[in-house]
Amino acid sequence: MTTCWCGSTEFLPFSDEYAECCNCGTLVLLVGMPPAKLIVEDDDTDFYGKAYWLDHQSDDFGYPDIYKRARADLTERNLYWLKVLLKYRLPGAKILELGCSHGSFVALMRLAGYDASGVEMSPWVVEFGKKTFGVPIFQGPVENLDIPAGSLDVIALMDVLEHLPDPVATMAHCLKLLKPDGLLLIQTPQFKQGMNYRQLVETQGVFLQQLKSDEHLYLFTDSSATRLFQQLGAEHIRFEPAIFGHYDMFFAVSRVPLPSDTADTGYAALETKPQARMALALLDIYSRETAATAQLMADKAHLIALLESSEADRAARLRVIEAQGNENVNLAAKWEASEAARANVATQLEASEADRAARLKVIEARGNENDSLAAKWKASEVARVNVGTQLEASEAARVDVGTQLKASEAARAELDANWWVRVGRKLGIVSPKRG
Ligand SMILES: [Zn+2]
Repeated sequence: MTTCWCGSTEFLPFSDEYAECCNCGTLVLLVGMPPAKLIVEDDDTDFYGKAYWLDHQSDDFGYPDIYKRARADLTERNLYWLKVLLKYRLPGAKILELGCSHGSFVALMRLAGYDASGVEMSPWVVEFGKKTFGVPIFQGPVENLDIPAGSLDVIALMDVLEHLPDPVATMAHCLKLLKPDGLLLIQTPQFKQGMNYRQLVETQGVFLQQLKSDEHLYLFTDSSATRLFQQLGAEHIRFEPAIFGHYDMFFAVSRVPLPSDTADTGYAALETKPQARMALALLDIYSRETAATAQLMADKAHLIALLESSEADRAARLRVIEAQGNENVNLAAKWEASEAARANVATQLEASEADRAARLKVIEARGNENDSLAAKWKASEVARVNVGTQLEASEAARVDVGTQLKASEAARAELDANWWVRVGRKLGIVSPKRG
């Protein structure tokens, strides 16, 4: 049966390999690990032996191997840790780093003037660190080392707490090794209450990397870590930003109130020794680099925001351009229709002009004809008047002729009568006096 470091045996399901302690909230590896697994007696076969540092890290996790790490850690996490350490203890303090690996942090602390040494489980790694950085490294576990109780200022445990089969016992031992005002400086993965395994898998959450079922036995929350140390009488805990804050936590913990920030004094102390100035120079470069990186990230975020707003603006402008394009097409169609109408009107105008001209010609022709008719009419009037006059004259002549005819008739009748008288006389029928 799985038991949490806090003693609880009640768990909420999390994944196939881990469960969440109902009592303290720590994520606990269900399989567990015998304390003996931590011990390295045979570097070729034991879990934390040579293969762990050479093949396991790169083959199974894709991390750089110990050779590359011995160089890379110095300019990155080691400087960050030193910066935080300077806030709590001045150079000269006696420090032990548990799980010091290749020993680069021990070397950097020594460069800065600390009396630092390290502990590792694998004899091969112990030798590697000694050879690589020329620093004192002891073969653990720490419980087996001959370190006087109450002799250390600081014990650093970077990525170690989560590996311990019995964190209560080991931390109790470490606290015993510390001076009364000594402190532990701890970096460990931070399990956050409410994390959901399926969601982590779906979103490829970075915390998934910490679910290492063959070595990460306890993944603490900030409150369960606090609880662990409270239980051990170290009630003063201060969380610092972790260099890998997206999955780690980083804190100092002590039995006495932690000192106020001594970083300024610490930096000043580094100026007092020729060798420590080299550590100071590295810290200065690191500060510049982190400031530049922060600036770059801020610039990047700013540029991304600008790009996004510019993209949105561009999209909006494109929509306007498209709408204007449509409107242009529309206007072009209207213009074409209007041109056609204009052409049509022009054609009609031309036809109308031609018609008007033709009508004008007709009117002109009729005008001429009218003039001609008027002239004819006048001539005809003159002729008519003339004829009238002639008619009057002819009437007068006719009347005259009539009169003459009557006179002629009368004369003829007289002649006739005269004739008959002469005839009658000749014939003797008519007296000569008659008539
Ligand atoms: Zn628990």
